Amino acid sequence: MEDSKNFIELIIDEDLENGRFDHVQTRFPPEPNGYLHIGHAKSILLNYGLAEKYNGKFNMRFDDTNPTKEKDEYVEAIKRDISWLGADWEDRLFFASDYFDEMYEVAVKLIKKGKAYVCDLTPEEIREYRGTLTEPGKNSPYRDRSVEENLELFENMKNGMYEDGTKVLRAKIDMASPNINMRDPIIYRVAHMTHHRTGDKWCIYPMYDFAHPIEDALEHITHSICTLEFEDHRPLYDWVVNEAEFEEKPRQIEFAKLYLTNVVTGKRYIKKLVDDGIVDGWDDPRLVTISALRRRGFTPESLKMFVELCGISKSNSSVDYAMLEYCIREDLKGKAPRVMAVIDPIKLIIDNYPEDKVEYFDVVNNPENEEMGTRQVAFSRELYIDRDDFMEEPPKKYFRLFPGNEVRLMNAYFVKCVDYKKDENGNVTEIHCTYDPETRSGSGFTGRKVKGTIHWVSAAHSVNAEVRLYENIVDEEKGKLNEDGTLNLNPNSKTVMTNARIESSIRNAKAEDKYQFVRKGFFCVDSKDTTEDKLVFNETVSLKSSFKLPKN
Ligand code: ATP
Ligand code: MG
Repeated sequence: MEDSKNFIELIIDEDLENGRFDHVQTRFPPEPNGYLHIGHAKSILLNYGLAEKYNGKFNMRFDDTNPTKEKDEYVEAIKRDISWLGADWEDRLFFASDYFDEMYEVAVKLIKKGKAYVCDLTPEEIREYRGTLTEPGKNSPYRDRSVEENLELFENMKNGMYEDGTKVLRAKIDMASPNINMRDPIIYRVAHMTHHRTGDKWCIYPMYDFAHPIEDALEHITHSICTLEFEDHRPLYDWVVNEAEFEEKPRQIEFAKLYLTNVVTGKRYIKKLVDDGIVDGWDDPRLVTISALRRRGFTPESLKMFVELCGISKSNSSVDYAMLEYCIREDLKGKAPRVMAVIDPIKLIIDNYPEDKVEYFDVVNNPENEEMGTRQVAFSRELYIDRDDFMEEPPKKYFRLFPGNEVRLMNAYFVKCVDYKKDENGNVTEIHCTYDPETRSGSGFTGRKVKGTIHWVSAAHSVNAEVRLYENIVDEEKGKLNEDGTLNLNPNSKTVMTNARIESSIRNAKAEDKYQFVRKGFFCVDSKDTTEDKLVFNETVSLKSSFKLPKN
């Protein structure tokens, strides 16, 4: 079956066919004012994927025209995340701030053409004069300044002769345009601020709608892909490209942003969680920044699969977080070794098993991938099992361990619960069982059946680890936002289990290694808090899923 093409590919095909362009060049233009999130991943993979598919080029460009919020820390994080995703910009790394001279020249050109003027209205007055959706705007009293006066005033702006907010340069288009973006938009403002790259060289900075088309044109971008909120800005994009008289005219195409249920996208919200200390940095595994997803155990392959399943569309909609979980399960199920891990341990003692005996069972590492081989797992008289695999008074249909019941210890023997002990608070502290040597795994025993199988680790042959369990950071059912606009946070989004016991095969696990903990889910070694003496795991995703891939 041939892949059906998305609407952007159809546009590109047509542009190549009718000669509007003879090559394809795309770019990803983040503003370095925060870390990238899953929505950006979609845009990166889309732009990079198109360049690859059409044998074109992909530019990495920092859109750093607003010095207030931009930082080098973000530049480095963004580069790291994009490389990790596999989008290779080769030697085409650019900064919009490198074009400040060219942008200034374009502004001067517009003034000379009578297409831009310096305006002294206050910000409030500019807003009033702009009109509304139903009423046209009014011309600024400064609109008819002469070219000479405008050139002089603009140069003075550049030379630092005016206070912030006292003068702006505006494009001279049409104050009665039905599109408010065309009502003499501001293209330069005075801002005495230090820029993370150009320092104090400039005290005037270009506005996004003016700067972006120039950046694209200077880099010979053919298809400038952005999100839907810029659709109404396209006439201005085209106006700038035409009036600046660039020979090659890039084309803006808009697509719908990716929104996900149960999580927080939007740099503004994520930054607030970080700044308020609600999460532990931009890479907290409960976030959906690319760094956080990576730390949590997602792979570039899973994100690519996810983006492909989402598709490219012209209308906004929200994707179920469960689809992202589906993708990582699909990717890891044949890749991640399976191990037995007891997250909330209780001791299980086999009364009739010799005290100093140790047996080793040969266990398959991944039943879905034979090439991953087998390993030896130690078994002994004292084991740990998970607290929720035992109940003193079980409800109907509980087939795991309870007094008098027999279960299979996965890969080992049948054991029967004969006794248990509790502390003064009523917590079970120890379970006593007997085992039946006849039921040894692999012996072909068929004498009787048991309904439950539970996992375990040998007390003396397991290692201690911290395991962090996660739930959604926002409570989607009650709405992501409270009435006052703050996020409706889930107080149980993170649970830290400090005494987990894991079979010793994971002893040498390294940061970002991924495992399936059998019967539980996929887990990844935390890259930030794991030390020589302490292993920390993040829950990537549980094994339970209600998600079904939509049929098409
Ligand atoms: P946010 O809205 O999260 O603050 P932004 O759009 O301000 O993001 P930029 O750094 O300006 O972030 O965006 C870089 C690119 O990523 C832009 O081309 C933008 O359209 C795209 N992008 C941002 N958010 C999404 C999203 N949710 N889905 C798809 N593309 C996105
Ligand atoms: Mg932005």
